[in-house]
Amino acid sequence: MKNLSVLFAVFLLSFQPVFTQELQSPQDFLGYEIGTRFTRNADVVKYFEYVANKSGLVQYHTYGKTNEFRPLTYAMISSEENLKNLEEIRIDHLKNAGIISGPADSSTDKAIVWLSYNVHGNEASSTEAAMQTLYELITSKKEWLKNTVVIIDPCLNPDGRDRYVNWYNQVKAEPYNTSHMATEHNEPWPGGRPNHYLFDLNRDWAWATQVETRQRLKVYNSWMPHIHVDFHEQQINEPYYFAPAAEPFHEVITPFQREFQTEIGKNHAKYFDEQGWLFFTKESFDLLYPSYGDTYPVYMGAIGMTYEQAGGGVAGLGIETGEGYELTLTDRVAHHKTTGLSTVEVAAKNIEKLTSEFKKFFQNNKLLYKSYALNGSPDKIAALKKLLDFHDISYSKAASGKIKGFNYTQNKTADLNTTENTLIVNTAQPKGKMVKVLFEPSTKLTDSLTYDITAWSLPYAYGLEAVASTRAISGSETTSPKPVINTATPAGAGYITKWDSMQDARFLAEMLNEGIKVRFSEIPFENSNQKFKSGSLVITKSDNRKLENFDSKLIEIANKYNRQLTAAASSFATSGPDFGSSEIKIINKARIGVLRGEGTSSLNYGEIWHFFEQELKYPVTSINTGDLDNKVLSGLDVLIFPSGNYDSILNDQKMKELKSWVKSGGKVIAIDNALGSFAGKEGFELKENKPAAKKDSTEKGNLIPYKLRERESIKNLITGSIIKTKVDNTHPMAFGYGDTYFSLKLSNDSFSLLNDGYNVVYLKENPEIISGFAGSDAVKNIKNSMIFGEEEMGKGSFIYLVDNPLFRNFWENGKLFFVNSIFFVNNEDLNRY
Ligand SMILES: [Zn+2]
Repeated sequence: MKNLSVLFAVFLLSFQPVFTQELQSPQDFLGYEIGTRFTRNADVVKYFEYVANKSGLVQYHTYGKTNEFRPLTYAMISSEENLKNLEEIRIDHLKNAGIISGPADSSTDKAIVWLSYNVHGNEASSTEAAMQTLYELITSKKEWLKNTVVIIDPCLNPDGRDRYVNWYNQVKAEPYNTSHMATEHNEPWPGGRPNHYLFDLNRDWAWATQVETRQRLKVYNSWMPHIHVDFHEQQINEPYYFAPAAEPFHEVITPFQREFQTEIGKNHAKYFDEQGWLFFTKESFDLLYPSYGDTYPVYMGAIGMTYEQAGGGVAGLGIETGEGYELTLTDRVAHHKTTGLSTVEVAAKNIEKLTSEFKKFFQNNKLLYKSYALNGSPDKIAALKKLLDFHDISYSKAASGKIKGFNYTQNKTADLNTTENTLIVNTAQPKGKMVKVLFEPSTKLTDSLTYDITAWSLPYAYGLEAVASTRAISGSETTSPKPVINTATPAGAGYITKWDSMQDARFLAEMLNEGIKVRFSEIPFENSNQKFKSGSLVITKSDNRKLENFDSKLIEIANKYNRQLTAAASSFATSGPDFGSSEIKIINKARIGVLRGEGTSSLNYGEIWHFFEQELKYPVTSINTGDLDNKVLSGLDVLIFPSGNYDSILNDQKMKELKSWVKSGGKVIAIDNALGSFAGKEGFELKENKPAAKKDSTEKGNLIPYKLRERESIKNLITGSIIKTKVDNTHPMAFGYGDTYFSLKLSNDSFSLLNDGYNVVYLKENPEIISGFAGSDAVKNIKNSMIFGEEEMGKGSFIYLVDNPLFRNFWENGKLFFVNSIFFVNNEDLNRY
């Protein structure tokens, strides 16, 4: 906060108001009418910089950089008077709402409106609209700025936007071609929608896994706007969509938040009716999953809304729609500009209502659960704290004792024993409603037809023991764990360390990258009077005797990752295997490939790519599906098939080559839909369970009425629910896990239990749905099914991950299954060393 005031003071010194009539419009500045070309991100930034320099009504800031090093920016737009007092306005706003403590001064009250453009890169009309909206706000609509501070982020996803715009500008016809078959309406894989790592940034607000989100949240949380709008595009035949949103609404959403959306919607309707533009409201776009650009702000007290214009990556500068008219970029921009300005207008006229109601949102004394208490390894607790810090959610530590409440693991009321390592998160804090949304065991659904996953409860996602308590638990301030300082013991036989977290996995990856040879134990053992579980890492002097500075290098890496090494004086075990035993296996430095391109799910490919580069920091080679052949295979130990459809890539010949590579020691990891390309094929035990045909309805004809068919079909759906599974933790894929695992089940896909292969994570007769929506027929179909398994073939293996453990990179507790699959499962036959 101090830094912000300093920045602001520096800004004031260089502040020179200039008359706005000299100001160039976007078209004067860029040299073309908005809507006649797509503007590259760098030129958008130039226009905003120009306006900030010329006009006294705009400040323009950079809040970070993307993966491809484009700037992330926002503009603050208000009257000259307000801009002079901006820091005071911000502090008073936060004090008013009780977000920061201290006496509030309501005389500076302003409506704070945040407009977010182009989070989906190829929904590209909105950034064009951002420039025009900026210009009109500081020229013809200036009077609204007396009461309002407008924040414009012209492009949340510059890498995605430029991917789309650069491609479009290269292929478009002159004049543009409106026929669907034209290249300019058919984006190549992966399209411009996602960011650099192909993540959907409009699913990332709550999990904050991407650099764009992480940097944006700092600014968002420092301003906490009254209103937030996320501009989007949808299919070309849809009319414009604006608030009010559709059911289901999360139960924390207040009556005021519902009503005020409607008030804003009615103001838009007035302008749309005047122009004869069609629109729809209250359908399709619900408010439940917390990681959207509408729900996240809603759970942070704002009126959070999504606006959807017809368009997207297929639309280009103009396209023929199914309804027989031409949809142009000019129209798309006009609509987004109209709703943006109309939003600011409603805000400017309702300051009192907005500020008083905003304040009420942050009173959280009526929430059922007052405290969440969480136990787990320090690594897992540290990972959760890191997430809470992104949202300015506070936490504390418990004292020794017992807390009664809803116990997540047992799925019923039970005690949790607490120690000072127990993390306490209370709902009696400004972000209390967000705490409820993220932590509550099960989200209340007012309607099961929703747009996204219906379960995400953090204790399950992070693999923590937890209780939700209706009694407030006071904790004391947490302290950061003391840094581990290992010392070299060159006289010993080597070092041993535990294996149960992603931090352990990062430590292993760096050791392998640095050329240190590492082993893991397939069974528990005892050495130096300490017990070690299966999966524990053993780093021997014998394996590394040729490595210069082995001890000091290892110690340096262990200290960096805060890993406690146990020095083993001898490789002789007090019980269990000695270091030389065949149970203590060498971990080969696997050469890993991942398929990308046509046929693969860009989202899942992106999750894997991001996981290796940003989470594990271990090299991975991306291979275009069309390039897969024997030569590629011979250079790899592990090949990952992201979710996708490989039927056209794996013809008979390619399948033969792949199987023969596996038989000679290769390892395939197939995720989610990729399993479909192996199930039921010759030589595979893997078999898909198709839902049983519905005898009553199909054999006698289906008499379920037309109107009820959509509802009926959801019986077969699972829309992201949490399921309790059994784990065989004697299998290397499950080292570091207990005997149950809460899996995020994303679809109704079901595969039979393997007979010869290993069912490592699986469901038995009565699948226990812990949270989220799962239709009755789908639940029947996943009885006795495999979730994660291994099918051996010759010397190698096919590893099946039916549920994607890397989904949006937020299911923290699933990631180690993936790492184990790479380094531990069937790795002794990689005979390269
Ligand atoms: Zn979108």
